[in-house]
Amino acid sequence: MGSASKHNFSSDNPSLYPCGRPLHAYDVPLKLVLLGATGSIGTQTMEIVRANADRLQVVAVSCFRRWPELAAELKLLAESCPGVPLPLVSVFDSKAHQEALKDGVFGDRLLGSGMDGVLESINSPDSVQVVINGMVGAAGLEPTLAAARRGVRIALANKESLVVGGDLVKREVFAHGAEILPVDSEHSAMAQCLSGRCETEIHKLILTASGGPFRQTSRKDLENVSLAQVLNHPTWNMGPKITVDCATLMNKGLEVIEAHHLFGVPYEKIEVVVHPGSSIHSFVEFVDGALLAQLGTPDMKLPIQYAINGEIHWPLPGSRLDLLKIGKLEFYEPDGVKFPCLELARQAGMAGGSAPIVLNGANEVAVAALLQEKIQYVDIPQVIEETLALQDHQPVNNLQDALGFDNQARRTAESLVEERFGC
Ligand code: MG
Repeated sequence: MGSASKHNFSSDNPSLYPCGRPLHAYDVPLKLVLLGATGSIGTQTMEIVRANADRLQVVAVSCFRRWPELAAELKLLAESCPGVPLPLVSVFDSKAHQEALKDGVFGDRLLGSGMDGVLESINSPDSVQVVINGMVGAAGLEPTLAAARRGVRIALANKESLVVGGDLVKREVFAHGAEILPVDSEHSAMAQCLSGRCETEIHKLILTASGGPFRQTSRKDLENVSLAQVLNHPTWNMGPKITVDCATLMNKGLEVIEAHHLFGVPYEKIEVVVHPGSSIHSFVEFVDGALLAQLGTPDMKLPIQYAINGEIHWPLPGSRLDLLKIGKLEFYEPDGVKFPCLELARQAGMAGGSAPIVLNGANEVAVAALLQEKIQYVDIPQVIEETLALQDHQPVNNLQDALGFDNQARRTAESLVEERFGC
C-alpha cells in the first residue's frame, strides 16, 4: 500500500484492483471455490472448468436452492475430470438443504445451510487459490469478506459486495493480502486496458451501457411496459435480477459505484455512455489523452476465465467480433429523465456511508416486487427514492452495521411496496 501517497486522486480511496502491482503466482491446477454455482456466472464457470480440467479444479461449490441442477452439473464435472475428487457442497435455502440431505446425492460432501454453509465452503477446503463469487445481491458481501480473510484471489461477479461494503472489503483485502479481479464485463474491460499500468496514469473511466430494452421507448410508454418486455435484454443473457437492473439502468449505476471502489477513481471521473451495439465493453482514458477500449462478443466466459487465471488470455472457443459486420460504433448520452436510477446510484455513491446500502436494499426489494408483478417498471425508482428519503444517513464501521442498514432499508421498501403500490 506504499503507493497510496503517490495516488493521482485521493489517498483515502486507493485502488482495490491491484493496478500495476504483481498478481499472486499460483501453481496449477488452481483450486477454486465457486459461489452461486447454478446461476449464470456459476454454470459458465463450470463450462470453463470442464474445458480446462488440467488447469482448474473445483474444491467447493454453493448454490441457493437448485440442488438437483447442481447435482447434474457435478455429474458433468465428474465425467470430464475423471479421478478428481468431487467438491464440497453447500445449499443455502434450509428446505432445499433438507431435501438434498434426504436424497443423499452429495454424500458426506454436503456442508451446512444458510450463510454458515457458504462460509464453510470457503473455509473448509485445505487449499484454495481462487474464490469466484457469483452470488446475487447484498448476500454476497459476507462471503467476499471471508474470502478476503483467506488471502486468496477473488474473481468478483457480485458487484453488490462493493456497492454495499466497498470500504469493508478494501480493509480486509489489504489486511490479508487478498486480490480482487473483476468479472463484471465492463470492469474486466477496464482491467484489460489497465494491464501493467499504474493508477497514477488513469485520467478517467468510461463505462459503456447497452441502454437496455427501453432505450427508444418514450417516457409515457414506459408506464405500460410488461414484465416480459423488461426481461428482454437486447445483448446479454443473464439472471432475472440483473436483467431488470439493466432495463432501469440501475445496473450501470451500481457499476459506477463498483468502479469507484475497484479503481480508486473519484465519481466525477467516471462517465457512462450508451453504446447500443455493446461491442466495446468499456474504456480507460489515460492522463496523456490516450483512450483504450476492450472489444469482444458478449460472452461472460472471457471475463470469468481472465479473472480466475490471473489475467492471462486463455483460448476460448466461440464467435469472434467481425468489425466489417459491425461497420460503425454509436454512442449516446444516457437519458437521466427516463432512467432516474443511474443518477440515484451516483448520488448515493457520492454520499457514501449507509446511502449505497439503502439504495441497493430498496432496489432488491423493488426488483423482487416487479418480478412478482406487484409493482410496475416505473415504480422502481420511486420506491428507491422514497426509501432513501426515509432513512437517516449513517456511517458504516463494520459488517453488522452494513447488514443492519440493509435490513432496515428492505423493511422500509417492503412497506412502501405494500402500502403505496400493492394490489
Ligand atoms: Mg456489467
